[in-house]
Amino acid sequence: MLSRRKVGSKTLPLKAVIGTGEYVYQHERDIIEQATGVTFVNEYGCTEVGLIGFECEEHNLHVMAANIYLEVIKDGKNVIDEEGDIHVTELHARSNPFIRYGLGDRGILCSERCSCGRALPIIKILSGRKRRLCPHS
Ligand SMILES: [Zn+2]
Repeated sequence: MLSRRKVGSKTLPLKAVIGTGEYVYQHERDIIEQATGVTFVNEYGCTEVGLIGFECEEHNLHVMAANIYLEVIKDGKNVIDEEGDIHVTELHARSNPFIRYGLGDRGILCSERCSCGRALPIIKILSGRKRRLCPHS
């Protein structure tokens, strides 16, 4: 574990730690920041479509809207400022694009604008991916 090895900004020239893939929650980022001594930044994405969102300096997760169309769906309808299932559509994939791909994450697509000044939408991730159990295991 990093904290036991005392690896961090004093032993490595780190400016920040960027987590990729599934969203990293506050209690997890606290451990990482304590172990490394630098700021943790969330990068939200998945293998299938790549980068979906990136955290700004105001700690909001902005949707990479130039590449991904993100929808939050609740009871079969798109919702804003309400919790639902996150679905994404790739905007630039030429072969086998993922369309309304359900990640298994739950979140809120926010109508509020971020104080960082970016116009990209904000997504709040509320719970991570449901573990998909193999029916044959
Ligand atoms: Zn922002």
